[in-house]
Amino acid sequence: MKIVEQPDIFLREPTSEVKFPLSSEDNVIIDQMIDTMYRNNGIGLAANQVGYARRIFVIDTTSSKAGAMIFINPVIEKLAKEKLTEEEGCLSCPTRLVEVRRPQYVGLKWFCRHGEEQYKTFYHLPARVVQHEMDHLDAKLITDLS
Ligand SMILES: [Zn+2]
Repeated sequence: MKIVEQPDIFLREPTSEVKFPLSSEDNVIIDQMIDTMYRNNGIGLAANQVGYARRIFVIDTTSSKAGAMIFINPVIEKLAKEKLTEEEGCLSCPTRLVEVRRPQYVGLKWFCRHGEEQYKTFYHLPARVVQHEMDHLDAKLITDLS
C-alpha cells in the first residue's frame, strides 16, 4: 500500500466510524496496514494514511515486531495532566522530526476486529503513538503541533 504524504488533502479529511461485523474490505485493509507499517519500519499507521478514511489504526511498539495491535473506533477517555516532550516522526511527513508535547498517559476505549469493546491505559512510547494515530484520525499532523 502506498502511504499518503503531506500535503495531500486526504490527510485533512474526516474519517468515519467502522460498522460491525467488519466487511471483507475492512479485514483485507487492516492486514495490509500492518504489513505496510512493518515494511516502512513504522510503529503506528492510521487508515487514512493509506487512503482509507475509516477510524482504524494499528501500532506495534515492540522490538520483536510480533505485537501488532488493531484499534477500531478508538476514543480517548482519559489523559494525564502531566505532559512530556519528545521527538516524533511520521510516515506521512518523511524527513521531518518534530518535538511534540503530549500527556504522559492515555486511557483509550476501542473495539477489536471481532467487535468487542476494549479499554487500556497506555504509558511511555505506546501512549505517544496512540495519541499520534488519534491525531491522524482527527486530520491533525505533527507539523501542526510544533
Ligand atoms: Zn503519523
